[in-house]
Amino acid sequence: MSDSTVSLPPLPAFAPGSVWLAGAGPGDPGLLTLLALHALGQADVVVYDALVDRRILALARPGTALENAGKRGGRPSPKQPDISARLVALARGGKRVLRLKGGDPFVFGRGGEEALALVAAEIPFRIVPGITAGVGGLAYAGIPSTHRDTNSAVAFVTGHTSSGTVPDGLDWEALAKGAPVLVIYMALGHLKELADRLIASGRPAGQPVAIISQATTDKQRVLESTLVTCAEEARSAGLEPPAMLVVGDVVRLRAGLDWLGAAAGKVLDPDPLRMKVKSE
Ligand code: SAH
Repeated sequence: MSDSTVSLPPLPAFAPGSVWLAGAGPGDPGLLTLLALHALGQADVVVYDALVDRRILALARPGTALENAGKRGGRPSPKQPDISARLVALARGGKRVLRLKGGDPFVFGRGGEEALALVAAEIPFRIVPGITAGVGGLAYAGIPSTHRDTNSAVAFVTGHTSSGTVPDGLDWEALAKGAPVLVIYMALGHLKELADRLIASGRPAGQPVAIISQATTDKQRVLESTLVTCAEEARSAGLEPPAMLVVGDVVRLRAGLDWLGAAAGKVLDPDPLRMKVKSE
């Protein structure tokens, strides 16, 4: 924090031979936590995932080894046990190991699996939460996760199993009926199937949805659509991963809260839910 006028509160030491399992947030380096920044300044090795923004890796202290967990050893997609074994080996070698993941390490990030491997190997570790895409990405799209007039619950859902299909073990009917807002991660490859399931389970075909792609980065794109048309529209818009699908009336608030759009000249509507019109 070279140009900062604030001084950091005392932060815990990053001991050699330990692993910090940290979230890097959805992209914008400004969304890093102080603990993650502190760890970047002290780590000997950063083992990072594909979703971690380059500008964040650039914050590591000079001389830190940067290891792409997705590319090590020339293998295209390493197995999770390989990554866990690598963390254990680096820590046993006396390194300060920063395991950096996109968003939050415990939200669809397999952070729990890696941490359990550290427990089994008796490696000391710390978990540093990050801003998950399902909260931070929505905020940058001008969509609150909850809003008093639209939803008092929100469900985080994965649209994708490890075998690449829409999860069958999920009770889609209960989700469709019980969760007024669904934030579906890893949804882009299965939009049609996801929308079909939700509609078949009772969700209105015309319900507002948003697809938020590359949230909080310079390439962020947000497509507002409806459940029944979103798959087709996302295809023709050429939206790229990573992306999330947000389903529910809360999406309508974007007309009033798209602060990034406002900075580019969009006029915001102070009554996007037409509450004032309704009560008059
Ligand atoms: N641990 C991460 C999620 C990892 S799963 C977190 O807490 O955010 C990967 C999925 O996260 C992607 O398929 C996408 O649905 C979502 N995601 C992560 N970063 C994103 C971003 N910048 N913009 C949109 N979606 C993102």
